[in-house]
Amino acid sequence: MKKILFVVCTHGDELAGHKLFQDYPYGQTDKVEWEVFVGNPEAVSFNTRFIETDLNRSFDARNPTSYEEKRAELIKLRLQQYDEVYDIHTTRSIHPSSWDDCIFINHSKPEILEACRYINAPHIIWNSDQEYAKRYLTYHHPFALTLEYQKTYDVYSDYERILADFENIIHQEMRLKKQKIIYEASRGVTQQERGIHGLEFEDFRYLTRLEKKQLELPANEDYVPVFVNQTETDADFYCFLTRKIKEI
Ligand SMILES: [Zn+2]
Repeated sequence: MKKILFVVCTHGDELAGHKLFQDYPYGQTDKVEWEVFVGNPEAVSFNTRFIETDLNRSFDARNPTSYEEKRAELIKLRLQQYDEVYDIHTTRSIHPSSWDDCIFINHSKPEILEACRYINAPHIIWNSDQEYAKRYLTYHHPFALTLEYQKTYDVYSDYERILADFENIIHQEMRLKKQKIIYEASRGVTQQERGIHGLEFEDFRYLTRLEKKQLELPANEDYVPVFVNQTETDADFYCFLTRKIKEI
């Protein structure tokens, strides 16, 4: 029987996922056995993103020292006990009206793309920069997906969207026929760059010609920005610029 791990609260202030831990901490269907695991319990108790360093940027520490870097080492060992891993996040982008949930993957393998069909999110973003991806939890398992749900001001409605996908996964039912678009995360835009050019992006809106010029991107390719960070706390990174590569 397939063993699935759902990780919630890798960021301690993303509490919709915590409800999944409270309601369905473990169990099994006729197809899978699952467990829900709290990524950063210390940060959850303070309802804060992290204690010392962002856990979801702490998985590549050479010499783990912060609470989160040490926690990342424990989590890496834990992940090995499962066949599939889903790391559940809620994120508040700059423009919460866009409502676009998305899936981040680190390897564009067919079986992972197949698993994306359980998830009711229209966009798949492939972290093609393997060096950068090492800092994320899901990089450290061969079959892992990061699910990013837009965080609204209603934790219960966010939870409902998470729960619908959770049900699809544990019953292994691909009810979703909707087409998904795969993007490659081409590069990030830093806070500093944003300041220099005075950029104001929205999620999944194509960059204008002027913006592409300012960022020295090829004019003949389309890019959309995707926010996954807290701009207040993530000093070195602002958003991913992604390039559409195909539809599935
Ligand atoms: Zn998060």
